[in-house]
Amino acid sequence: MKNLEQLSLHNINKSFFINNKKIDVLKDINLDVTPGEFVSIIGPSGCGKSTLLRLIIGLSHQTIGSILLGGRELQESTHEVGIVFQESRLFPWLSVYKNITFGLENEHLSQKDQADVKEHLHLVGLENFADAYPSQLSGGMQQRVSIARALISHPKVLLLDEPFGALDAITRIYMQQEITRIWQTEKSTILLVTHDIDEAIFLSDRVIVMSHRPATIKNIISVDLPRPRDRNSYDFLLLRK
Ligand code: ADP
Ligand code: MG
Repeated sequence: MKNLEQLSLHNINKSFFINNKKIDVLKDINLDVTPGEFVSIIGPSGCGKSTLLRLIIGLSHQTIGSILLGGRELQESTHEVGIVFQESRLFPWLSVYKNITFGLENEHLSQKDQADVKEHLHLVGLENFADAYPSQLSGGMQQRVSIARALISHPKVLLLDEPFGALDAITRIYMQQEITRIWQTEKSTILLVTHDIDEAIFLSDRVIVMSHRPATIKNIISVDLPRPRDRNSYDFLLLRK
């Protein structure tokens, strides 16, 4: 069982220099995400949502502020955080199986690791596609591979950056249903960036609204509506549509 911990963003500020001009993108962002919470972030395009996720996973560094997991500064290239981007960013020359295991430290997987990969393939419904290549998969299936790849190191925090943005409406609904099931099974803390307010309210415990540049957290809306949380309720919703 994963030992989930609180994710805390303290006074995050991020500026970029473009043509010697300083542009403040994030300003005084403070946010605590409780262990196992599902938080959505919405806000206008270009306000800094992806920048914020990039800081959390260590692909970029904040100008000021700190990012803590369980009170400790997050280390760079940590396995404690996983990310899924809008475009699946899979390696086209690697099979589904190899794409998922790519980031694992050992080239020769133990039997336990191999079983774990199988379990994750099953989790995202791709148990029969281990040997397929990304080009042989639909957009939704490619995103499922990305999700399995993000989850294989058992991250405590899963970051989703508009993961369903490029998918058609029906696939989107199925993926939303999948992510809820995965959230229940994997028990990760999830931060989802989306431009779809319905999706945010439907999926998460709390919706964060970021304002435009420099982005601050303008409003924090707590969503505590009774929502469908299990597959059966989703099936019911799908049937009703
Ligand atoms: P969002 O994901 O909310 O659409 P981003 O986080 O991608 O927005 O970008 C926020 C702002 O920061 C944009 O104005 C973008 O141009 C700028 N930005 C992001 N990354 C860089 C970078 N590496 N260099 C310069 N500016 C950047
Ligand atoms: Mg973005």
